Amino acid sequence: MKEKIVYWITGSQTLYGDDVLQHVAKHSEEMVRYITDRMPVTVKYLTTCKNSDEAEAAVKQINNDDDCIGVITWCHTFSPAKMWIRGLRKLQKPLCHFATQYNKELPYSSIDMDFMNENQSAHGDREFAYILARLRLPHKVVVGHYTDERALRVLYDWCIAAAGYAFSEKVKVCRFSDNMRDVAVTEGDKVEAHIKFGWQVDYYPIAELVDYIGRTTDGQIDELMKEYAKKYDMCTDNIGAVREQAKYEIAIERFLKENGGYIGFVDHFGTLNGLRQLPGLAVQDLQAKSYGFGPEGDWKISALGAVMCYMAGQKCTGLMEDYTYDLTRGTVLGAHMLEVSPQFAKDKPRIEVHPLSIGGKEDPARLVFEGIASPEAIAVSMVDMGNGMRLIIQQIELVPYPKKMPNLPVGSLMWKYKSGFDDGVAAWLYAGGAHHTVVSSVVTLGQMLDIASMWNIETVVLNEKTDLRELNGQLALNDNIQSK
Ligand code: MN
Repeated sequence: MKEKIVYWITGSQTLYGDDVLQHVAKHSEEMVRYITDRMPVTVKYLTTCKNSDEAEAAVKQINNDDDCIGVITWCHTFSPAKMWIRGLRKLQKPLCHFATQYNKELPYSSIDMDFMNENQSAHGDREFAYILARLRLPHKVVVGHYTDERALRVLYDWCIAAAGYAFSEKVKVCRFSDNMRDVAVTEGDKVEAHIKFGWQVDYYPIAELVDYIGRTTDGQIDELMKEYAKKYDMCTDNIGAVREQAKYEIAIERFLKENGGYIGFVDHFGTLNGLRQLPGLAVQDLQAKSYGFGPEGDWKISALGAVMCYMAGQKCTGLMEDYTYDLTRGTVLGAHMLEVSPQFAKDKPRIEVHPLSIGGKEDPARLVFEGIASPEAIAVSMVDMGNGMRLIIQQIELVPYPKKMPNLPVGSLMWKYKSGFDDGVAAWLYAGGAHHTVVSSVVTLGQMLDIASMWNIETVVLNEKTDLRELNGQLALNDNIQSK
């Protein structure tokens, strides 16, 4: 992510003379040098804008630089905001308005009107913010001194979201199946997703993957089996079943790379013509390598998973499914029939082979593990409401398992809702949240809210502040706005 660039533009004007402008540039460079070392991306001072032509030229440079994922703006002095209109109307990348200041404390004993003219961010940032509001330009406001840790944490989150937004624009998902027959929530408008998020979602008959599987060599399988042996504990004598999964993994990865660079894919246990097992271990290991995955044809969760996995730096992020409750403890046991990412594993995952009671295929090899605990995590769902996509973000706590589950042959996670069990479940159901989610203990709520703002989509947050009556009012209001 450090290769990605966020440009910094300072706003000013010529009214105060060359000396002040030299100070403005010098201070801006000093601030950016401090900030860039503390960000996941590279922050570069671009220029100080003093008129419309300079603002427009800066925006064009930002738009045309493929490595640039966003822009941070700040006004050191006053900066008349009509000069920003022509440029900002052309801006095509996320904008963060950092309401900061060069000095931290007022120089009480020496302050005079020269100081006031040079250091009037409070004044200049209000003029600039008005024009952002007037243009209805989605943007982030971060407030605080540029060395303040809390402000930098908010800016850090915004940079992650901006990088995720740029990544999202190029996401391609390969569908080896349509959505499962009769299932509603995994459906959605693929053209709308392409327009809003940049997701290209393409279908290929499973027969084309079967060709790739047929061309996999023993040498390739041997190589991958060595990798499995390093990463996982082999807890089965049925090595043939494991080699079958290795074959699928090699074939799927080659297919995705050779057919245009897909970074996500879906399959469906009912569409496996030509495969002997449901891909389990194969899908799990591909998720460990950061590929997005959706079961039962769920392309939305595959794309969202790929984006969030990138934002998380490939840690503790992946597909999850709300499966069954422990009502005595108010917990949810999340799992899937096979395909849970080993990024969630508490200990070294075990490769095991067990029957699968669905699909009528041979016993598939899979990774089995208990999930991690984490005080902060999110479960995210995306649903198509007919008049637009809704992003639902539930704040959860990943909890340790109270007892062993020796007969559960899958990877799993266990969690509690920040809002408490009853309200957490009720809120999720009122919002129409799906059974498939992307869970992450690395991607933060702030990062998801920032990327949702960049996508400009309806967003619902569920946590300890959630009040069910207010939530239903908000959903009704959102619906009213969206349908206009
Ligand atoms: Mn499912």
